[in-house]
Amino acid sequence: MKTTHSAAARRHEVLVLGAGYAGLSAATQLAARSRKRGDLRVTLVNPYDTFTERLRLHMTATGQETAEMRIPELLDGTGAVFVRGWVTAVDAEASTVRIDDDRVLRYDTLVYGLGSIADTVTVPGVDEHAHTLDGPESAALLADRLERLDGGTVVIGGSGLTGVEAAAEIAERHPRLQVVLLGRQEPGATLHPKAKAHVDAALARLGVRVRAGAEVTKVLPDSVELADGSGVPADVVLWTSGTRVPPLAAAAGLTVDDRGRVVTDDALRSVSHPDVYAVGDAAAVRQGYGVLHGTCQSGMPTGVHAALSILRVLAGKQPRPFRFGYYHTPVSLGRNDAVVQFTRPDDSPRRIVLTGKGAVRYKEIVSAAPWATFGRMKKMPASGAFWPHGGRHTRIRSAK
Ligand SMILES: Cc1cc2nc3c(=O)[nH]c(=O)nc-3n(C[C@H](O)[C@H](O)[C@H](O)COP(=O)(O)OP(=O)(O)OC[C@H]3O[C@@H](n4cnc5c(N)ncnc54)[C@H](O)[C@@H]3O)c2cc1C
Repeated sequence: MKTTHSAAARRHEVLVLGAGYAGLSAATQLAARSRKRGDLRVTLVNPYDTFTERLRLHMTATGQETAEMRIPELLDGTGAVFVRGWVTAVDAEASTVRIDDDRVLRYDTLVYGLGSIADTVTVPGVDEHAHTLDGPESAALLADRLERLDGGTVVIGGSGLTGVEAAAEIAERHPRLQVVLLGRQEPGATLHPKAKAHVDAALARLGVRVRAGAEVTKVLPDSVELADGSGVPADVVLWTSGTRVPPLAAAAGLTVDDRGRVVTDDALRSVSHPDVYAVGDAAAVRQGYGVLHGTCQSGMPTGVHAALSILRVLAGKQPRPFRFGYYHTPVSLGRNDAVVQFTRPDDSPRRIVLTGKGAVRYKEIVSAAPWATFGRMKKMPASGAFWPHGGRHTRIRSAK
């Protein structure tokens, strides 16, 4: 009994906040690599005990069933503890985290992986009147609303790739509805012209009306207002333009960038609080080509790398610098079409593009891969530690 107490007293507590792509990568990697040691405990906090596949939320929003992936089952046998709850505050001085039911969890090392949500605050009326694809509940709410509409117009605010995927999915599943895709940029503007042409053709085939160069200034209960003074009638508005991160890191006094993301060093530690690691969309991670933008393909490696850094630091070793190069942008265009843009490490488009059925299969493999990867990592932790490092593109040149 005495031994158990002294072991517990020496145990290093790693608290992982958020079981998204990045947090779950960190937790599985850490738990799998430390399951045989009694001196480290991993606790994972998330509001749901099922994994939210954000990559498929536009499918949930159109009433399509997706697989249920239970986090406690994934962690079973690793020794990691799952805590269901909503984090309301981080106290970086006391090294504690408060959960909505007033539980307080202590940590020695924190992994901050709370992700991002749609930016519903910049444009007036979005928060009150627009739907989002932030999680299973908001997606289900939209699905219900769309199902009840006999006809009418769905306006999608934001012509980035999330907006494109949602517009195609809604138009395909609800042909009786008029779908309008509004935004500053042309849909697929970041893709190679070949891929962009495919996106344009798919949206036209599905009857999506595209209005690029449009700046939404206000969302009202039955329309959106544009900067040129015109209005677009809307029975439903879905907002996909821009993202914001939870304010908890900034409130805790961690150094954050102008978007509230935790600024990290090259081991993915907070530059102001080295006992805090930040991963995924909630982190501002610099590479040679700039700061990572939120994706699943970069989020999972940040989680794995944070886990490896933590273990190296605990072993008294120097953590290695994180390096990541992008390699693809798969975009679904409904269930029967897709486009895959292959990219350079800095995410600029190559000439290589996959379309049609091959792209549909590719996109499905990519969307299904994370859960399978977590499962594999549980048995073979090293299997999660492979990703393109991006060569010279990602190397950060030190200032002279
Ligand atoms: C519709 C849609 C389609 C997308 N498609 C693609 C795609 O095709 N390819 C791609 O690479 N990226 C895509 N993205 C972006 C991608 O989903 C994100 O970059 C990715 O989810 C980031 O992973 P993450 O772990 O940082 O955050 P998330 O996956 O968002 O996970 C964050 C976790 O933290 C939890 N959380 C948040 N706040 C709290 C709190 N206060 N307390 C406790 N838990 C909390 C959340 O519930 C969630 O489980 C898409 C996003 C959307 C919305």
